[in-house]
Amino acid sequence: MSTGSTLLITFDGLRRDRATAELMPNLARFMAEGSNFVNSRSIFPSETRVAVTSTMTGCPPGDHGVVANQFIHPVRPEGLFRTAEWEDLELAAQAGQLLDRETMGQRMANAGRTMAVVSTATKGASRMMNSSAHDLAQPVFSMHGAPVSSPDLHEAVLARLGDIPEPGAPNGSRMTYATSALIEVVYPRHNPDFCVFWMNEPDMSSHRFGVTAPETQEAQRICDENFGRILEWWKAGNGPENILVMSDHGQITGRRQLETLDIIPAEFGRVAIGSFSSIYLDDRSDANKARVVDWLVQQDFCGLVFVTGENGEATAGALPWAAVRNNHPRGADVGFTLRATDCSQSWGPTVDSCRFAAWISDGGGMHGGLNRGELSTVLAAQGPAFRAGFVSETPCWLPDIAPTILTAMGLPLDGTEGRPLVEALVGEDPRFGIAPQVEIRTLQAEHRGHEQYLRQWVVEGQTIVDCGWTAGTGAWDR
Ligand SMILES: [Zn+2]
Repeated sequence: MSTGSTLLITFDGLRRDRATAELMPNLARFMAEGSNFVNSRSIFPSETRVAVTSTMTGCPPGDHGVVANQFIHPVRPEGLFRTAEWEDLELAAQAGQLLDRETMGQRMANAGRTMAVVSTATKGASRMMNSSAHDLAQPVFSMHGAPVSSPDLHEAVLARLGDIPEPGAPNGSRMTYATSALIEVVYPRHNPDFCVFWMNEPDMSSHRFGVTAPETQEAQRICDENFGRILEWWKAGNGPENILVMSDHGQITGRRQLETLDIIPAEFGRVAIGSFSSIYLDDRSDANKARVVDWLVQQDFCGLVFVTGENGEATAGALPWAAVRNNHPRGADVGFTLRATDCSQSWGPTVDSCRFAAWISDGGGMHGGLNRGELSTVLAAQGPAFRAGFVSETPCWLPDIAPTILTAMGLPLDGTEGRPLVEALVGEDPRFGIAPQVEIRTLQAEHRGHEQYLRQWVVEGQTIVDCGWTAGTGAWDR
C-alpha cells in the first residue's frame, strides 16, 4: 500500500438530496464521519461520459475535449460521435483526437504507480475511466468483457465468481458481483495505488422508474449494502489508505416529451438533440449565430443558450461557452438545454423537472442540463489523508477530484484545471486545512423576454457552475 493510495467509488446519477440515512445508511455515516463536501457539483453538460472524463483528467470539458455524450467529431463525418460506443472512441484515440489532457491512468504510469478499473457502466464510460488502460497494461474489469476488460483479469474474475449475471432493473446482481470482483479479485491480484469502482445505479433505475420511485430506492439500498461490504473489508485493513465516494451528476424528472427530435431547421446545420443539444452551424458568422439564437429563444422547449462570438463577442439572448467551462474547438457553435423548472429558490427530488427528448417515459429521470438537481452531487472522503467529521462548504466540482488524489499521493498536478481540496487534507503542507475565499456571481442574458441566469462560484479565480435557470417567456410553466 503506497502513500495516498485511493479507491474512488461512484454512485452514478445519485442526487445529493437522495443520499439520505434512510435510503443509504452506510453512505450517510461515511459522509458524516469523513470529509463531506456539501456544495459539490457536476460539470456541464451533466452527462456521464463528460463527467467521467472530467473526473479522470481533472479538467472541465472545455479543456479535455469530450464536450458531450454525443457530438460532431471529424472522425465521424457522416453521423454523430457517440461516446457510449467503443468504436467511436477508438477512432478518435487513433487519430489523436480523443483527449487533450492527461488521464489519471497516464499519471499513475508516469509516476510508476498502478491503477485498476472495475465498472458496471457502458463500454464508453468504462473506457473513459482509463482511456489508455490497455496500452499501459493497467487492469480493467467490465461487465461487457472484451474489448473493455483486460482478458486475463476477466478470466480471473469469472473463474472465481462464475458467469456475469444478466443486467436487471434494479441492477442489483451486477452491483453485488462487481463488488465481489473488486474485493476478492482486483485488490488481491493487483493492489492498485488508484482504483475506480463504478456502480451504474441508481442512474439506471432512476431513468427508468423515476427519481423517487420504489425501484430506484431499492437500487440505492443495494448500492449501499455493497458499499457497506467494501467498508467492512477496508476497515479490516484491506485495500487502499483512502476512500473517496462521488456521484457524477443527479437526475430530475422528465415531463412532456418533445414530439419529435426534428426540432431544429435543417438549414442551420448539423445537430445532436438531447437534454443538452448542440448545433454545428453551416454558416458560423456572428450574424448567423444571432439569427439562430433569436429563433431558439422563441421555442417553447428552449432553456439556457450558449454561444461564443468570433472575437468573444456576446450574442443577445445567450451566454458564452466559457461561462460553463465548455469552450472547446470540438464544441458546438450553439448549445442549449431543454426547458426545466426554476431551481433558484425552490428545488427537490419531487419538484425539479424538465422537458425531455426521447428514450425514457414520462416521469422517468433525466440529466444533462443545469438544474440544481442535475448538478448537485455526492462527494465525501475518509482515510489518513482526510479530516474526520469535517463539513466543507467550499464549492467544488468533479475536476477537483483528481488534483486532490494526486496531492494526497504527493504527485504533480500540472495540466489539471481543478483545485486540490486542501481544506479537507491532513498533513505538513501549510495549505492543508485552510479553506479558500469564495465569490458568488450571477450571469444573465435576455432576448425577446426569454431570460436566463447562471449562478457561478469563483474559487481562486476559477469558476464553478452552481446552477442555471430560465424565467420570463422562458419560464417552465408557460
Ligand atoms: Zn451518470
